Amino acid sequence: MRDHLARSTRRTAPRAVAAGTGGLLLAALLPVTAAQATSSGGCEHRNNNSYDKLLQCVTVEGVREHQEALQKIADNSTDPVHPGTRAAGTDGYAASVDYVAGLLRDAGYEVSLDPVQVEFSFPPVLTQLTPTAADYETGVFSGSGSARVEGTVVPVDINLEGDRASTSGCETEDFTGLNLSGPADIALIQRGTCTFGLKARNAQDAGAEAVVVFNQGNPSTDPADDREGLFIGDATSLDLEGTQPSDLTVPVVGASFADGVQLAAEGSTAVVEVRIEQRTDHSVIAELPGKNRDNVVMAGAHLDSVIEGPGINDDGSGSAALLETALMMANTKPENTLRFAWWAGEELGLIGSTDYVAGLSKAEADRIALYMNYDMVGSPNYIFMVYDADQSTFEAPVAIPKGSAAIENVYERYYTLTGEPYDDTAFDGRSDYQAFILAGIPSGGLFTGAEEVKTDQQAAIWGGTAGEQFDPCYHLACDTAENVDLHALEVNSDLIAFAMLTFAYSTEPVNGIEGTEVPGKAVDLPAPAGPQGTFPATDGGAAGVRPSA
Ligand SMILES: [Zn+2]
Repeated sequence: MRDHLARSTRRTAPRAVAAGTGGLLLAALLPVTAAQATSSGGCEHRNNNSYDKLLQCVTVEGVREHQEALQKIADNSTDPVHPGTRAAGTDGYAASVDYVAGLLRDAGYEVSLDPVQVEFSFPPVLTQLTPTAADYETGVFSGSGSARVEGTVVPVDINLEGDRASTSGCETEDFTGLNLSGPADIALIQRGTCTFGLKARNAQDAGAEAVVVFNQGNPSTDPADDREGLFIGDATSLDLEGTQPSDLTVPVVGASFADGVQLAAEGSTAVVEVRIEQRTDHSVIAELPGKNRDNVVMAGAHLDSVIEGPGINDDGSGSAALLETALMMANTKPENTLRFAWWAGEELGLIGSTDYVAGLSKAEADRIALYMNYDMVGSPNYIFMVYDADQSTFEAPVAIPKGSAAIENVYERYYTLTGEPYDDTAFDGRSDYQAFILAGIPSGGLFTGAEEVKTDQQAAIWGGTAGEQFDPCYHLACDTAENVDLHALEVNSDLIAFAMLTFAYSTEPVNGIEGTEVPGKAVDLPAPAGPQGTFPATDGGAAGVRPSA
């Protein structure tokens, strides 16, 4: 839904000097008055090749309009399975692609749509038929097969007593003596000790047509490690390291411990149904050629939402800020080539960005000077975070490509210039930079927080509410256009534009390739103030992802 109205009216008037630190920066930078700017044909038609001109034109109002357009797209989504979302495989996602690609094409970008195969899951079914009839809440494990199985439930070496220690399904001997020879046997397996991929594979090899993995039920001291309730795990690999794929064909669903106990009853029969369809989504790639075609400055955000809601902060905020930056840079003639990406299938496991990097030849990968990732940049209970390339707080679980710290440095010095405190966030593999850093491409990015809880110390520094998540609507239906902090979104939209313009003219600090000064009034970035240090230094292990055991 490309509405020309928005384009023709909104973008002629560059913003007036706003109050607050961002405005202060602009006041210092802005030699040009609004009247003069308007006279030069307005933002979308002029060459915004200087900090003052670009930051004048990348406005929080402009970014908000894109967020509201994405909200409207979700509202209008008629997908029968995931209405009201922009999830992978839905019409809501396809309309988001049309919106972004349409504006970029109109602005003169070379736009390509990268086809990406995504798994579209229909709501799974776990229904007990006998001895009691009940529908249980469930979910599909990653790596699950797709089928409907109605048959006998066969418990496998489960332990419902005492400490409920469980090696259920971990050894092939666990299946000895069990009758799984029928056409519709459902193996009932308890969580514990080994990976879900190994448990499910052993069951499949023993003759089961479906697998239910119920939570272990053992008391856990770690509040984040719920061993009672429903959980959805990752069954893609036999080993914890993820080096041996499980190659499952049978459906694998989850259940809470209590429901597992019910299913384990004598004479139990049930229905397990997993319906997964392969669908094609597209990542949007937009390029603006620079003088140097062999030095590509890349930035990305993901365009899909989760199935639970419209995803207007996750990641409508990054998508919108990046889109506004691209539109306002459409007429620049940069030194380096600019490439913007809106990824498909991030919420399904970084599908679009991983596919993209895997599809690059060595030569093409070598042309990419750096990659900047923007996933959640306007969280309502925000703190400002920068991916910790110099590992000053978080030891990264993977090698961080040389040059990444120079990207972090630009972000930190800009926050320092505008008086915004910031902290480090780990390269923990939870967003679309992962494929780039694994390919050795220098990377960085910004993040304002998701399900982590704000501490008193952080509330004292950034305001907001201690004891509440940085984004209370993370992966929920309430992640709507209201789910935003405007100040955070404004500061980060400016910084996204500032960084893109900086590297558009020179990536020398990152990869040593000589560039030029950004035209117009220079900005003297101070030395970075340093991260606030509100996180205990740890190895940046991947938090919040699906458990594999
Ligand atoms: Zn996200």
